Amino acid sequence: MSELHKFIFDGLPVRGIVVRLTDTWTEILRRRASNSEHGAYAAPVREMLGEMVAAGVLMQSSIKFDGALVLQIMGDGPVKLAVVEVQSSLEVRATATVLQPVPEGATLSQMVNVNNQGRCAITLDPQTKFPGQQPYQGVVPLFDDHGKPIDKLNAVLEHYMLQSEQLDTTLVLAADEQVAAGLLIQRLPVQGEGNLSGSLVSKDNEDQIGLNEHYNRISILASSLKREELLSLDVETVLRRLFWEETLTRFEPLVGEVAPRFACSCSRERVARMIVGLGADEAYSILQERPNIEVACEFCGVQYHFDPVDTARLFVPPTQQIEGGDTPH
Ligand SMILES: [Zn+2]
Repeated sequence: MSELHKFIFDGLPVRGIVVRLTDTWTEILRRRASNSEHGAYAAPVREMLGEMVAAGVLMQSSIKFDGALVLQIMGDGPVKLAVVEVQSSLEVRATATVLQPVPEGATLSQMVNVNNQGRCAITLDPQTKFPGQQPYQGVVPLFDDHGKPIDKLNAVLEHYMLQSEQLDTTLVLAADEQVAAGLLIQRLPVQGEGNLSGSLVSKDNEDQIGLNEHYNRISILASSLKREELLSLDVETVLRRLFWEETLTRFEPLVGEVAPRFACSCSRERVARMIVGLGADEAYSILQERPNIEVACEFCGVQYHFDPVDTARLFVPPTQQIEGGDTPH
């Protein structure tokens, strides 16, 4: 079963999270494989998306935020888009748009950064917005400060966290057809969290970037974790092997109903709004070619059908509508 564990290093400004997704991840893969239009992901795409799912859950779990965290890669290669959405409740959904066959053993760059035009975006979309409020979005390229392509997702995200959040972060990520897993180690901001040792509070946060010896030591330990170990070992064994010389305080693990789990937020109402967004002319021109407007959810595979009567109701002015239905906003 899927599980998530948070911990802090006693007396040090360092915290960690481990996530291990099993049923959650295989459900995402199962829905994709049963999609007759696309079929299952090629292994390199599956690995990238699984690492993104693990990273998205880790990042959502590391912030105090009520809403959706969306991690996206907009690719310039055979994979055009990969999206992971994680709600504060840790409901997860994910999908990738693959335009061309992806060869065995393809790297991140070969999939999404062929011309160094790939981008990684992180969006925080609050559950409740004040009028006119836009979601927060940060975007980073898939190359480093010298223009050299970054070929590991963990390095892209570590770069992002440092550039846009001023947070030292170490990520270890891995995924296969059964498990998507990740380990996050982060230096806590000097001001803020209440579990810091007294010795550090007078220092300015930026002075500490890359320089905190405790964080650096723990980061090196974390980075020694191999992909195969992260995929095959249980969480207790991983933490014992890496940090047996450190003192950890563990929090209640999130398992069962509160563990990260697959859920899709699509609905007939949302699809109806999308059709309204197309406009009546476009909607009716689709219906001239086929009996229904059919929209399949890319995340969960559910098919929504709108026949001519359903469609006509969408475009009736609200004042003439007798009951229910979706009205354009
Ligand atoms: Zn859906």
